[in-house]
Amino acid sequence: MGRRSSKILGNEFLQIKPQFSNNNIKAFFSLRSFPANGEAGRNELAKIVGFKPQNLITPIQIHSTNVNFVLTADLVPRCDGVFTNKKELTCSIQVADCMPIYFAHLSENVFGLVHVGWRGLVDGILEESAALLSKNGYKLSDFEIVIGPSIQKCCFEVRDDIIKKFKSEFIIRANQNGVYKVDLQKYAFSKMAHMGFEESNIELSNDCTFCLQEKYHSFRRDGKNSGRMLGLIGSS
Ligand SMILES: [Zn+2]
Repeated sequence: MGRRSSKILGNEFLQIKPQFSNNNIKAFFSLRSFPANGEAGRNELAKIVGFKPQNLITPIQIHSTNVNFVLTADLVPRCDGVFTNKKELTCSIQVADCMPIYFAHLSENVFGLVHVGWRGLVDGILEESAALLSKNGYKLSDFEIVIGPSIQKCCFEVRDDIIKKFKSEFIIRANQNGVYKVDLQKYAFSKMAHMGFEESNIELSNDCTFCLQEKYHSFRRDGKNSGRMLGLIGSS
């Protein structure tokens, strides 16, 4: 699995990969220094990177396994991942520690963004995403994937009650207080490789949102008043 960092543009957002195989597709991620949040932030980021704010697909996220293939710009209630094959549209999500997982078809204008926290990961949001792409006629091996900045194994602590949900290969160690750490990115990578995505097409960001306080918002670090990072993927 290739771990590469993303290019920083203007210190306010990242271009999530310098170039996808389908070089029409571009993906972005706002940093803590990005001046706007919420819907205004989404619109602002879209404008800066050359997408149209009125063409945003915006899931109303609930930490579910619900993913949708969407053909019109809209709010999508009760949803944690959106895909489209309409090149004029832009998929969006917001995160603070959860994994933003970007999907880009190697040659066609098909792309998506999924919000994956530990609960969604365990409950099967990646399996639902794979099933959705297959149902719409796409081969999983035809997608490039980037797991963006998120809380990493250095900082993602879980207690006894939740650790049973993870296979031992993804658990780092326990300290004397019964706290374990889990490598969510490795777990997501492993799941996707088993589903039929190509390992060589999956890239992981090394950036830990909890560690890098100046760079990212973190829900676990900053609590319920934490800001959010915005993710966008679209076609130009
Ligand atoms: Zn960390």
